[in-house]
Amino acid sequence: MTLETEFERYELPLAETFRISRETTQIAETVVVRVSDGENEGIGAAAPSRYYGETAETVVEILPDLLAVVEDVDDPHAAQRVERRLENTVKGNTAAKSAATTALADLAGTRLGVPLYRQWGLDPDAVPVTSYSMGVEVPETMAERARDRVDSGFKILKLKIGTDSEADRERVAAVREAVPEATIRVDANGGYDVETAVEVSGWLADLGVEFLEQPVPGGNLEGLREVHERGAIPVAADESCVDAGDVPGVAGTCDIVVGKIAKCGSPWALRRQLETATAHGLETMVGCMVESNASLAAAVHCSPLADYADLDGSLLLAEDPFVGVPFVDGRPNLADLDRPGTGVREQ
Ligand SMILES: [Mg+2]
Repeated sequence: MTLETEFERYELPLAETFRISRETTQIAETVVVRVSDGENEGIGAAAPSRYYGETAETVVEILPDLLAVVEDVDDPHAAQRVERRLENTVKGNTAAKSAATTALADLAGTRLGVPLYRQWGLDPDAVPVTSYSMGVEVPETMAERARDRVDSGFKILKLKIGTDSEADRERVAAVREAVPEATIRVDANGGYDVETAVEVSGWLADLGVEFLEQPVPGGNLEGLREVHERGAIPVAADESCVDAGDVPGVAGTCDIVVGKIAKCGSPWALRRQLETATAHGLETMVGCMVESNASLAAAVHCSPLADYADLDGSLLLAEDPFVGVPFVDGRPNLADLDRPGTGVREQ
């Protein structure tokens, strides 16, 4: 076999400006990787995050080294060997690695003629309903958009908070009033200190919010533990739990672990993170960046292993050049996927 690889940079405009506690995004920087065996093609993509030290530039810089490994191993079914060699090539750079590994997983499944979730024997009926993420806006805008999203079939909203806590309270209250029937989750992206987070947790409980994601900065595990112990609603660890290796450290500091392929580096690493968290008695959520189906689809295939899903990345784009797993009423429908591998193809 002779595997051939290539990559291409995309700038994908968002449907709406997306503001979280630490940054505002208008464009999703994406680097798409294609791996071909001459007959079949696998597609993957990097959704780099500045927070984790990656940008489209760093991805483009490191990808030739990573893809040289893929070409040298020259076997899409040799995931373990590829992962080990990628790890020996460079530490971190997980979004870049995920582009290469996801393309390889897509190619492997395509060659076998089975979707990735079936290759793994996962249950398509176990895919959780996904939340729809909403950036920080004024309360009226958030309420209006929330009504609109729920009317279009989404039952779960994930609101970005973690700015000024009084303003956050007005936002969440406005959304609660606009969509009394919806499940609401919130993500502070590390924007609070411990005391504020505990206080916020109290009024979130009064507003019927399901859980609070990353209340304090990622590195503050003792703070996370305090919010977990003193707060009124469950706590999820996202920035605090990057991969399976972080799970033992966050066990006891939170209720839910958030896994994302861009953080851990491959579909296999995401499985390990979810399974390790489950083994530690934690609940799990599969999440994503604001990203194209080209990278998102592989996470959807892992999602039967999770209790919760936040897989709306592609829906936040003005237009996604890639098709992935179809959604029905806010739920990725793996059973209806009629393509092998991750199911990704160009529009
Ligand atoms: Mg998060």
